[in-house]
Amino acid sequence: MEAAISVLEDDPSFDAGKGSFLNAQGRVEMDASIMDGANLNTGAVAAVQCVKNPIKLARKVLDSDWALIVGEGALEFAREQGVETCNNWSLVTQQELQRWAEHPGQVQNYLRDGAFYSDLLGPSGDTVGAVAMDDKGNIAAGTSTGGSNNKPCGRVGDSPQIGCGTYADNSKGGVSMTGPGELVIRVVLAKHAVDLLKEDFRAQQAADSAIQYLKARVGGVGGIIIVDHWGGVGHAKTTHMMSCAYMTEGLSEPVVEV
Ligand code: ASP
Repeated sequence: MEAAISVLEDDPSFDAGKGSFLNAQGRVEMDASIMDGANLNTGAVAAVQCVKNPIKLARKVLDSDWALIVGEGALEFAREQGVETCNNWSLVTQQELQRWAEHPGQVQNYLRDGAFYSDLLGPSGDTVGAVAMDDKGNIAAGTSTGGSNNKPCGRVGDSPQIGCGTYADNSKGGVSMTGPGELVIRVVLAKHAVDLLKEDFRAQQAADSAIQYLKARVGGVGGIIIVDHWGGVGHAKTTHMMSCAYMTEGLSEPVVEV
């Protein structure tokens, strides 16, 4: 799962790792989290710069005594742990530089007008995430993002906040989310979605219901992927886009939806 997210972070098409949206200072500043559903262990980093794969750093946090490390401290932790660091510019793409230059002050407008995030901040749904279950029923979930375009320096979204952008519990299921962090946080959506899972309300119903709840309760758009502890897969979105793929026992090749 960490490996799958690393591949997506390295792909400049997504808002994570290389290709992240830029903050108000024109720098890449990233958030990531990972959760082990067997023991409810968590690891997260937020507002970290100059790390090639924030999910690998989040994994190091999971393996440590800590739960969440931010900013300069997270970069220092990466150096200590031997997680690859890089020049901030190596994570910046031409496309994101252009988006940043063409849309200044969007965050301020969003906060003032309370309008839909996706209309103001660009194509929400580019955050990356994965949920995996092994043959023993262990579930892990993770999420990685560059956040939103022109966000203030130090802004942290839902993705590194356990229960908001990511959650995993072997007794229920695992979730990873995309969507406007400022709204997802208000409804603690990943934990909400996991708690919806029941014998007769499985991954797909929980995914649909969680996304409707985000809209109904706080007017947010979002995208969600879920694996329930029976091995079922669900996904739903109201974002403009959210590519997704899954592979389950019995399938000869992955199902891909772009
Ligand atoms: N959830 C991310 C954040 O608010 C952004 C996104 O998923 O589009 O930082």
